[in-house]
Amino acid sequence: MSTHNACVERAREAFSRVFGTRVTHAASAPGRVNLIGEHTDYTGGYVLPIAIDLRCAAVGKTNEVRPGWRVHSADLGETVEFDPHAEPDQLPGGSWARYVAGVAAELIKLGWNPPPIELCVASDVPLGGGLSSSAALGVATATVLESMCGRTLSAVDKALLCQRAEQAWAGVPCGVMDQMAAIMSRQGHALLIDCRDLTIEHVPMPSESDAALVVFNTNVRHALAAGEYARRRAACERAVRVLGVKSLRDVTIARIDAAATALSEVERRCARHVVTENQRTVAAANALRSGDLAEFGRLMSQSHASLRDDMSVSCQELDTLVEFASACEGVYGARMTGAGFGGCAIALIEPSKCASATETIAVGYRQRCGRDCSIIPARASAGACPVTV
Ligand code: ADP
Ligand code: MG
Repeated sequence: MSTHNACVERAREAFSRVFGTRVTHAASAPGRVNLIGEHTDYTGGYVLPIAIDLRCAAVGKTNEVRPGWRVHSADLGETVEFDPHAEPDQLPGGSWARYVAGVAAELIKLGWNPPPIELCVASDVPLGGGLSSSAALGVATATVLESMCGRTLSAVDKALLCQRAEQAWAGVPCGVMDQMAAIMSRQGHALLIDCRDLTIEHVPMPSESDAALVVFNTNVRHALAAGEYARRRAACERAVRVLGVKSLRDVTIARIDAAATALSEVERRCARHVVTENQRTVAAANALRSGDLAEFGRLMSQSHASLRDDMSVSCQELDTLVEFASACEGVYGARMTGAGFGGCAIALIEPSKCASATETIAVGYRQRCGRDCSIIPARASAGACPVTV
């Protein structure tokens, strides 16, 4: 059974157990991993994620008997009751159900008028592991609610709605990449997103016989992550003001160098990362189109160096994974992925060398960092869809 059906099945079983009735609607949405283009989303640049073959299912039924909305997470074994017409602060802060309530509330704000609904979610995406279980949850919820209401949003409107839900209800200052990847991805393709105008392009990924993409989760998340992310964003925003441009997309390295005295060292380095990362992301999409895996791998490695040295968002655990990966035979390239300070690294590997390289990287990580990494093979998968029940 594919993971797609497995999470839907799990959600459906839990729904029957918890709510004592059968679901009428189901949908699922994938997690994602970003191949390249880091800290470029909020600066109006390019990102290149793929949806992965781990998904979150959301299943539901209109509740004709009791008033009120209820949602159950099969992963946490928790049921939460909420009122999507209320203000966000009426749900306990930090509650996972805020992701679901936020989506319902944002649909109601658009003038949709869903009846009270019971929902159950079940995810194969590891929670909090940097593979965007949060966007998978929000997008799966929006997709099942679309089915239940018999209406649809455009892909971009749906991504923006789920982003607003995550920002306003869950309190996470996220970009829109995760939601767009969870909605618009196409099997066997990466998704090149221009974050300035939210246009997209599907770029073919190498076939499984040409390359394997492996995600290594450091299984650490350093406590300073949220604060440092906000500081990097602020540095980029100040650089934009000083340089007198709309976004760092409009800037060249020469322009940054010319303004060096007006920028702090941190602002200069962050701006430099963003400018070079945008160039690398466009070049990486071109390399995929022409099947040049060696070039794609070089760009991944350069991206990691820039995130480590200019953006200063790597950490010992991520550097260790990338260092061991880069030394392995058959590895085209490796880099941290996500905002940094923990989370995941990815490596693009020749299939015949994948098992040995993965083993070498995992052993090296355990010896150097004193803990195990998780290994998740990733395949470029399709975005969210309703599922027939
Ligand atoms: P990531 O998106 O990288 O997995 P986040 O911290 O952004 O990490 O989101 C993880 C949070 O999303 C969880 O802590 C939980 O609140 C919520 N979440 C995601 N999937 C589920 C699920 N299946 N059940 C309950 N909560 C979930
Ligand atoms: Mg998230």
